[in-house]
Amino acid sequence: MIKKIDHIGIAVSSIEASLPFYTDILNLTLDGIEEVESQKVRVAFIKIGESKLELLEPLSPESPIATFIEKRGEGIHHIALGVTSIEERIQEIKQNGIQMLADEPKLGAAGAKIAFMHPKSTGKVLYELCEKPSEGETIE
Ligand code: ZN
Repeated sequence: MIKKIDHIGIAVSSIEASLPFYTDILNLTLDGIEEVESQKVRVAFIKIGESKLELLEPLSPESPIATFIEKRGEGIHHIALGVTSIEERIQEIKQNGIQMLADEPKLGAAGAKIAFMHPKSTGKVLYELCEKPSEGETIE
């Protein structure tokens, strides 16, 4: 099932330059910064109640985030839906004719399994499915 909006992804050229707006002006708390190899990005998670904001900074020109910023500038990149049993969710979604960017989940930040739906199938919104290890089923 889909449980909540896990986070909203925001493309930024520089986490360092963007962070003070969130931490100093909005007084939100930085939850941590890490590199996500599968997406060639550095991400900063900012806690906001049950959800988070995810600032995404490209680590290489081949990063999907670099391409996004080049085409459209900085700004909202995706909405992440927190789910359980992500493999089953992907199958259900595909059975309903929705295209996924990849058929298998990839490893995202904080050990989460993530998969994106193709914006062509979703009214131009890039939705990420996101299963956190602690919130999903037991991992053997
Ligand atoms: Zn995300």
